[in-house]
Amino acid sequence: MPTKDELAMNDVPHLSEDDLQICRSRAQQLLAERASQADIAVVTEQLGRYPRGIISVAARCQQCGTPLVVATRPLITERVKHPTPFPTTFYLTSPEAVKAASHLESAGVMVELQELYGEEAIAGETAAAQACGAAASDAVETADSGEAQGDNLERHRQYVRAHEMYLAVRNELARELGDSQEHILNISAGGMPTRVKCLHALVGHALAMGPGVNPVGDEALRCMKHEFDPAVCRCTLKVADFER
Ligand SMILES: [Zn+2]
Repeated sequence: MPTKDELAMNDVPHLSEDDLQICRSRAQQLLAERASQADIAVVTEQLGRYPRGIISVAARCQQCGTPLVVATRPLITERVKHPTPFPTTFYLTSPEAVKAASHLESAGVMVELQELYGEEAIAGETAAAQACGAAASDAVETADSGEAQGDNLERHRQYVRAHEMYLAVRNELARELGDSQEHILNISAGGMPTRVKCLHALVGHALAMGPGVNPVGDEALRCMKHEFDPAVCRCTLKVADFER
């Protein structure tokens, strides 16, 4: 008979065995590389608060190593009166990335990304949106044919896959840490898998997992390259300043 905790696992019905394996390995890697005191100090400075439930740094500036995204456990128990369920496993902490994501959001990019990847993508009307003008990927084309309908379906499938990969990483973390997910079952982040609600969360996921996992996060990263790019150091806070 399944235990209560096994029952409190998120459903990932569409993931291939390969994708599941990628998620399990990523979770194991996060657990093996716990955040250092210097990491925690710089993230505290980035957020203006202590990062409760932090497991590890899930993405870093490729030049200076400063944390960009943190991985947080599914149930926070430290420094809180009552255990707090935490669905946003990957949280964007880099002030430069946060600002760039906010700029894209206020430019209205989310509406267009939602038409391309969200539930609208398969709702009969074909998307004719361009995510961020000429910089958008070639997946983004005026769509008026059956072929384009197929592209919409495929894009939405990729977004559902991103959602399930988010949950699969968290399942593995929860299993290893003994954290119950009963209050956050099938809740991922950023509006996945039907909506595009928070680019910060989707960019955080894309940075934490690498390209090819979260198509909306990847797209947003392409759109914000002039302002934020993990390969280009524009960090104002550097982890090196917190090391001793
Ligand atoms: Zn840097």
